[in-house]
Amino acid sequence: MTNQTLLDRSLQAVWHPCTQMKQHESYPLIPIHKGEGVWLYDAEGKRYLDAVSSWWVNLFGHNNPHIKDAIKLQLDTLEHVMLAGFTHQPVIELSEKLAQLTGLGHAFYASDGASATEIALKMSFHYWHNCSAQTGKTNKTKFISLQNSYHGETLGALAVTDVAIFKDTYAPLLMQSAQMPSPDFRLAENGESAEAFALRCADQLEQYVREHHAELAAFIIEPLIQCAAGMAMYHPAYLKRARQICSQYDVHLIADEIAVGFGRTGTMFACEQAAVTADFICLSKGITGGYLPLSAVLTTDTVYQAFYDDSTAKGFLHSHSYTGNPLACSAALATLAIFESDNILEKNKEKACYLNETMQALTAFPIEHLRHQGMILAFDVKTNNPQFSRGCYSQALQQGLLLRPIGNTVYFMPPYTITEAEIDFMLSATMNALRASM
Ligand SMILES: *Cc1c(COP(=O)(O)O)cnc(C)c1O
Repeated sequence: MTNQTLLDRSLQAVWHPCTQMKQHESYPLIPIHKGEGVWLYDAEGKRYLDAVSSWWVNLFGHNNPHIKDAIKLQLDTLEHVMLAGFTHQPVIELSEKLAQLTGLGHAFYASDGASATEIALKMSFHYWHNCSAQTGKTNKTKFISLQNSYHGETLGALAVTDVAIFKDTYAPLLMQSAQMPSPDFRLAENGESAEAFALRCADQLEQYVREHHAELAAFIIEPLIQCAAGMAMYHPAYLKRARQICSQYDVHLIADEIAVGFGRTGTMFACEQAAVTADFICLSKGITGGYLPLSAVLTTDTVYQAFYDDSTAKGFLHSHSYTGNPLACSAALATLAIFESDNILEKNKEKACYLNETMQALTAFPIEHLRHQGMILAFDVKTNNPQFSRGCYSQALQQGLLLRPIGNTVYFMPPYTITEAEIDFMLSATMNALRASM
């Protein structure tokens, strides 16, 4: 089957995500036939380096033998069973493992990131509801998030997301939430350090929480990097202060580590860099190494105990059909095993260093805010071309590189298995794409 036939059929039958379909009249789809390591191969054999880990999910390359074998093995015994009334070894092992890694001992599962956000919001609200007789806090029904935050696109998650292009159309459908100033260091005053700016933003958070805590259930935040906002990075001092403020005023802290979890920022979880334990942590994306849809919300004994009761209605009655799917759990266990067997966090330090050193060459271009954190590197292109993002995307594809700039921000979030030679290729292809698209 040629590329052309496949893409014609896809445009007829498939409604693609995050896409104005009409734009495919001028920007063709790429039918992908197979993946191997950091490379994706189209139907005619042309290859593309997957510099965005297929939307931030792939950790250890495509066609990874260990993850593949774990899924195959699981497939021979149990593909799925509902998790209400039943349990199975992969979900138990994964929950124990995640508890050990996060310090949060109760794991609730779903299939995507947005569902994890929904679950954390509902659990937080329901916790305050269940406890209201003891606490006298009867009105904790609201959520706050950061400006430019992204927490997913189902209605509840979209309500705490702050990206106009995704949100504005649906505004009449969404619950109200308030957005706190983003500590994104690019917004600091001239001469103000990232840390000083983070603390100044935290002061504004405190002021809001002080005035509104009686009605606040939770503050949801993407720790260290607001990825969808364009890899907006901020100082960990903000997280530390946010934790103190939330504890002081009895507001839950929900850490949305869906994008930054599993080693992306250099530590297993981004919160570790601020020595912060959230009340809820949302995980997805890299959790299965990019193999199968799975998400999890982990929480504390305190939250869990507030639902543990003779009353059915006090329980958390939320569910999804594929909750805790055994195949997905076995992919996640295999992924976590690779972190240990291959000493990934240690090795990534060197790799991140090489990535950062290599990409310094980009400063010869009109760019600013070249920034990095673990296995994420980003910069902002100074251009007046309003079509820069799409132009750069298609020029990079011609070079055999899958980049997906967010506005004028170009970023790399490659699989951890990327080699130095592949990083070099990423640089030269990016330079060519920039020359052709600025
Ligand atoms: C991707 C993402 C989500 C949503 O996950 P989906 O699986 O796409 O629903 C939520 N929060 C963050 C921080 C994300 O990056």
